[in-house]
Amino acid sequence: MASTTELLLRVNGVQPAFGIEFGLDSPRANEGRSGDPYRQANVSFSLVQRRHDRIVRHTLIDVGMGVVPSLLEFEQTHGVHVVDEVLLTHPHFDHFAQLDWLSMCLLRSDRPDQPRPLPIHASTDCWENGPNRIHRHLAERSDFRPLEPARKLVLGDLRVTPFAVDHGPKAPGALGFVAEHGKRKIVISGDFVRIADEDHPRMFDADVLFLEANTWHPAEWTSHQSVLGNLRLIDKWRPKRTYLLHYSGYEDLEHQNDPIAGPMDTETFRRQLQRIAEDRDIRLAVHGMILGDTVTWPT
Ligand SMILES: [Zn+2]
Ligand SMILES: [Zn+2]
Repeated sequence: MASTTELLLRVNGVQPAFGIEFGLDSPRANEGRSGDPYRQANVSFSLVQRRHDRIVRHTLIDVGMGVVPSLLEFEQTHGVHVVDEVLLTHPHFDHFAQLDWLSMCLLRSDRPDQPRPLPIHASTDCWENGPNRIHRHLAERSDFRPLEPARKLVLGDLRVTPFAVDHGPKAPGALGFVAEHGKRKIVISGDFVRIADEDHPRMFDADVLFLEANTWHPAEWTSHQSVLGNLRLIDKWRPKRTYLLHYSGYEDLEHQNDPIAGPMDTETFRRQLQRIAEDRDIRLAVHGMILGDTVTWPT
């Protein structure tokens, strides 16, 4: 069936678990505190279906720290006032911290088109180890719906297929998502170190691939991926464009004999990325960027 909506994808936040580190003297932290230290949020995405300039569905992926303020900004700029559903990648605090705040806001919202209670899609392991353990009253004001790898969700014109990722023993039930809208395919890795089913056709030929890159150099003991570690997957999956996010660079401090020996500011990161990208289209994701609006989709 042909899709009748257009898709916007907003990056609500790009920050790793501990955001811009208080007290740390690094080019990345110094840039963060000298810019707008309030405008930071953990990695999160809004997938918005719009028909004739009217928002018809808003699917939110992950709700870590800073995400509700980022959504307040999105409300102001694009009139996105409801959340139709939340999808969670995994049970780490930087991916669900503000779910309690959001669910309470939506109870108080008087929008007739706001679904109540709020549907929250996550794996059962994620739900039980993360949000349902930490936010004690969340279950009373939400509608938990268990996700399973490879079982497709249909959300209006958007089809979302979860896939299992390995993000270490402290992240049971971790998932990534393949989102399809019309002919467009977006792959969102979530936090991960490995993807068991990386040869599955669903991972290949995306229009846009979002990969977490917590460090520059591989540091698999952190259960996270890295810029250099991701090159192999980019070459295998051949997306038209790749965005990196969740960059901290902290563990790169262990590479004191390497030119990249710690957290870089944006300009240095972009320059280094350009150096290794060769013919690949790899970019650094930016807080608040909107594919289909402030940034064009790849063609
Ligand atoms: Zn994370
Ligand atoms: Zn994580």
